[in-house]
Amino acid sequence: MLVSPPTIASDVGSPEYMDCKVSNVSGCAEPSQTQPREPTEKVSLFRPQTCHFELTVAMTNERVVVEIKDLEQLFDALRQWGSLVGPTVREGAIAYDSVTAISDLPVGLIDEQEGGMYRLRKSNDERVFGCTVGPQSWKRFLFPPNLRLWKANRTIGNLKKVEDSHEAEKYVFIGVRSCELHAIAIQDKVFMKGEYSDPVYKARREGAFIVAVNCSRASSNCFCESMNTGPRVTFGFDLALTEVLEDGAHFFVVQIGSDRGRSIIEAIPNHAATESESNAALRVSEAVRMQKTLVTDGIKELLYQNYENPRWAEVADRCLTCGNCTLVCPTCFCSAVYDVTDLAGKQAERWRKWDSCFSVDFSYIHGGSIRPSPVSRYRQWMTHKLGTWIDQFGTSGCVGCGRCITWCPVGIDLTEEAQAIRETEKIRID
Ligand code: SF4
Ligand code: SF4
Repeated sequence: MLVSPPTIASDVGSPEYMDCKVSNVSGCAEPSQTQPREPTEKVSLFRPQTCHFELTVAMTNERVVVEIKDLEQLFDALRQWGSLVGPTVREGAIAYDSVTAISDLPVGLIDEQEGGMYRLRKSNDERVFGCTVGPQSWKRFLFPPNLRLWKANRTIGNLKKVEDSHEAEKYVFIGVRSCELHAIAIQDKVFMKGEYSDPVYKARREGAFIVAVNCSRASSNCFCESMNTGPRVTFGFDLALTEVLEDGAHFFVVQIGSDRGRSIIEAIPNHAATESESNAALRVSEAVRMQKTLVTDGIKELLYQNYENPRWAEVADRCLTCGNCTLVCPTCFCSAVYDVTDLAGKQAERWRKWDSCFSVDFSYIHGGSIRPSPVSRYRQWMTHKLGTWIDQFGTSGCVGCGRCITWCPVGIDLTEEAQAIRETEKIRID
């Protein structure tokens, strides 16, 4: 699944910057194992225009402190639940991949993002989780980009189906941001809450142990605040870390979100957070400033009334219909199914692969595509994300992570497009 490289800033060659050559958003290792315990307490959450779901977790306000020197012990304890996956540096960008030690994490780095531009640079401290989100999201572990559904062997006169086991992969996700927890909750609705449940997603989701991280900064493309999805983590985690670097101290204030989270913390050195340590953690979240906003008031109706707005043609003139925005989006869930056979005709396989509404074939129905033009495809994507998704699933399809803006090769920004439509609507009304 190829993603074109974004525009690289001109000073990327300086030693301070890491060259970004991300061309594949789906190319990393797949881990295994865990035995999740039954959760204990039900919490109902409502997020206007974003999420409405029930979680069954042991949410507490209990906070403990784990010193930076004991982070490796936390990782060791987490390995009993499953394979660790977290932010690592791959080809100049943050990718979620196997983590064997703290040194695999992007310590001392921060990311810079603009429309069509991404780069990592050294920061002036040793923060472990200083980077915001990269091109990948956790969906590639819960909803794999390539999955063989079954294979069959031909013997004399017979086709014998060989079932794939699809044993649940057991992951520990390290460094899950608030917007990403909301994205996972949205995909839970798509894959598990409807009439049909996806068994592969469900097994992987139920086995996942989530270590969330409160953001200490926002990239210039983040707009989670507009979508009510961040920046502070509020639900859906086993443990939530806030990294504090203050007055020469470096520690994590850890909120315990489940019984299994508590059992991990009990196995490593920690102490109950003092008032001053809890306040320091609060200051980290409060210091996060959004630079981007999306006005969500009446956005569904706005888009429904503007199918013929000339702005769609303007954006389509720039759009390459490459599909990057759909592949990097943590909530997009479309897939296609392909059958392949070997040349000898003795073996057949059925595969599921991520698909994108930006391809012509995506809307092929009975002899032709119903969205043959870039205008129709961009309008479909954005109207689905911000409008029809609400009718379909009761939430917005956007969590404000900004990935589609950063990884669009021509820097198309859906917040700007929505605002432009709002502005022309205003002119019409005036
Ligand atoms: S909006 Fe950007 S990323 Fe999305 S299909 Fe068009 S060119 Fe590609
Ligand atoms: S539409 Fe863009 S900003 Fe919204 S969740 Fe998807 S990738 Fe993130």
